[in-house]
Amino acid sequence: MIISMQPDATKEQLDAVFARIEELGYKSHPIFGEERTVIGVVGRLHRPEKELFEGLDGVDTVVYISKPFKLVSKELKREASVFDIGGVKVGGTELMLAAGPCSVESEAQIVEIAREVKAGGAKFLRGGAYKPRTSPFSFQGLGREGLEFMATARAETGLKIVTEVLSIKDIDLVAEYADVIQIGARNCQNFALLEAVGKARKPVLYKRGMSTTVNEWLQAADYILDGGNEEVILCERGIRTFETATRNTLDTNAVALVKEMSHLPIIVDPSHATGHDHLVIPAARAGIAAGADGLIIEVHTHPEKAWSDGHQCLRPARFRDCVAQVRRIAEAMGRTIG
Ligand code: PEP
Ligand code: MN
Repeated sequence: MIISMQPDATKEQLDAVFARIEELGYKSHPIFGEERTVIGVVGRLHRPEKELFEGLDGVDTVVYISKPFKLVSKELKREASVFDIGGVKVGGTELMLAAGPCSVESEAQIVEIAREVKAGGAKFLRGGAYKPRTSPFSFQGLGREGLEFMATARAETGLKIVTEVLSIKDIDLVAEYADVIQIGARNCQNFALLEAVGKARKPVLYKRGMSTTVNEWLQAADYILDGGNEEVILCERGIRTFETATRNTLDTNAVALVKEMSHLPIIVDPSHATGHDHLVIPAARAGIAAGADGLIIEVHTHPEKAWSDGHQCLRPARFRDCVAQVRRIAEAMGRTIG
């Protein structure tokens, strides 16, 4: 439900509305706009009733949110959300560009790749220290040591760090090092983890599950926002279809649809979406043409030796070519990159 306050509502009137919301057992998600304050009201036990708020002083209109997802919806917040992540804006005119290996393998590896992706125009360094692997017998990530190596790469290059958290018990540790906490596809509907990162004070890169509908994904994103963390960047990373020639199928429809339905930024991961290095550039171009707010791309200086996902990693030269090609699409879309 959305309560729109009158433009001249006083602070006392606003506080009285907040108090009433709390008294009834609901939760407020205010948006303090230039013209007026709008309050998203959500309740977990029962749906908030309009009539309980309509007569209150200072209240202009009360309407229900028609979609099943609430806090992420454009009905609640019309303007696109733009986040400032340590001086780098995400969701604005400039496209977010994150790049780096699938996994952190050593200090030398991550520092070398960080230098390369920075030279290519990236502002964010990706790299997993905790890896969600299909088999327990595959490399699981370096854990805390991997986070330390990421921190060294940040100190050397100034890049912001994007790294994944797999489990609630590691959130505090990962948040200590990360500039952006990644929630991977396999945890898209791990609601307990989503609630927990909702309490973290770090932006979240939140990937779509491989079989999650857009509707389910956006509802699940509400768990993060409801926890108080509004800095969520969605990431379309390909979905499972009948097609087996590619690892996944990039759902550009979803990118366009999410831009229509949500105020959150959405970026595209053309590496996991295709699973093949030679398809990454066209998928990256398509993602930006569909309206995405950025890209996260796997890059490795020695893909043939990578400990995970080498087949879909770009070498630095190809990464630079990717950025150059995407730049032309970005210009057509009124955006900038790198
Ligand atoms: C990754 O980013 O390396 C990763 C595991 O991605 P996803 O969760 O999209 O499979
Ligand atoms: Mn990977």
